[in-house]
Amino acid sequence: MNRRRFLKASLAATGAAAGMAHAVTSAAEKPAERPTPQKDPPVIEKVDVLVCGGGTAGTIAALQAARAGASTMLVELGSQLGGTITTGGVAWPGLFHAWGKQIIAGIGWELVTKTVELDGGVLPDCSKPFQPGRHPSQQVMVNLYLYAALAEELCLQAGIELRYYEFPLAAEAVDGGWRVEIVGPGAHRMVTCRQLVDCTGGADVTGLLGFARLRDREIQPGSLMYAVGNAYEPGKQQLSKMHVPAADSTTSETRTRANIAGRAAVLKHLRAAAPKGGRLVHLRAETAVRETYRIVGETIIMDQDYTAGRRFEDAVCHAFYPVDLHETNGSVKPKYLADGVVPTVPLRALIPKGSRNLLVAGRSVSSERLANSGLRVQAACMAMGQAAGAAAALAAQRGVAPLDVPLADLRVLLAKHGAILP
Ligand SMILES: Cc1cc2nc3c(=O)[nH]c(=O)nc-3n(C[C@H](O)[C@H](O)[C@H](O)COP(=O)(O)OP(=O)(O)OC[C@H]3O[C@@H](n4cnc5c(N)ncnc54)[C@H](O)[C@@H]3O)c2cc1C
Repeated sequence: MNRRRFLKASLAATGAAAGMAHAVTSAAEKPAERPTPQKDPPVIEKVDVLVCGGGTAGTIAALQAARAGASTMLVELGSQLGGTITTGGVAWPGLFHAWGKQIIAGIGWELVTKTVELDGGVLPDCSKPFQPGRHPSQQVMVNLYLYAALAEELCLQAGIELRYYEFPLAAEAVDGGWRVEIVGPGAHRMVTCRQLVDCTGGADVTGLLGFARLRDREIQPGSLMYAVGNAYEPGKQQLSKMHVPAADSTTSETRTRANIAGRAAVLKHLRAAAPKGGRLVHLRAETAVRETYRIVGETIIMDQDYTAGRRFEDAVCHAFYPVDLHETNGSVKPKYLADGVVPTVPLRALIPKGSRNLLVAGRSVSSERLANSGLRVQAACMAMGQAAGAAAALAAQRGVAPLDVPLADLRVLLAKHGAILP
């Protein structure tokens, strides 16, 4: 299916009328009225780049923007950086290598290797050709506590203004950028920025601004990560996954439901394990979410683009993982990419269609669903984050939209910061 037909079919399938901001499937999730920022906020701040969401992609996006010389603020809803890696407990980023060769490096790889080094851990041997079924062994085990602490240290060293417990409430376009109303407990500020980078996982900011997003009627289950046994050894052991059907990070209500369902399922499991001496030795605070919204970008990475390893003319990074769509019951049958195939991510898939001064990175990258199931993995999210951060910094410094930054300049900046370009 070509892109236009795919989009038309998707919008029709989700019942969205032409021109609607969101393609939402269920009646319960009709888009709320878009709030506009208050006129007289108590605190006014100005930055070049505002990154919302300090998770897998957002941490790297902010680091890249700041290291490129842009004044950068990073607003994170939770209490630490790392998102699904740390708060979610999925602490084994992959895949940085494909077919025996490194295909993703840069700032994400720097943070991952620094974490492994300080933890006295070991990197997997990825020099051997990739073997179907062996991909989990090529992911890097990281100590999630250390990852969050080192990510924070690097951000502070880069001069990033870090704001935990805060989130954007409303935003509007202004001349040369955005006015974003940001709130948190006891905090209420208006931030003006030249470039906005949405790394919230579910493209929350893109939705807030009224740009189109897509989601499927059924979404993959999430997982609450836990350990039952004698002890949990971070960086050396993977946590167990308790599957949580329909786990959805979209609103505080859906998040609450996902956390309650996850903890109830862990309790049920524990009650069965306890008589045999099983103890709950680790439980993450939040259910990790696999899938919610994807943006409708200036281009859409189609399933065929992913599986054929299409090299987009504006490719800014690689991605590599089998097609990995989980069933509602948590089961998954990965579909491996053909020998030598390495998919790429174009800059236009990181830009919401029709937007100016807005970039998106992470699992909400503009893509068809099967392609997304491979693109959403952590190394690819980090690489997308770095690309979005670089594009945002250059666009902010030149007073232009990201699409007006010459691709050659973007590639030079990314290469300077260690990224591997397709
Ligand atoms: C159970 C599970 C298993 C997985 N297994 C693997 C695996 O084996 N290997 C692999 O590489 N990948 C795996 N993945 C996929 C991968 O972990 C995620 O797709 C990826 O980490 C998503 O990165 P992200 O930056 O898009 O989002 P996240 O890392 O989730 O970051 C989003 C951040 O934004 C913050 N945020 C959200 N809303 C707002 C807001 N409105 N304002 C401010 N901040 C906000 C969140 O608190 C969070 O910190 C798995 C995912 C799950 C859920």
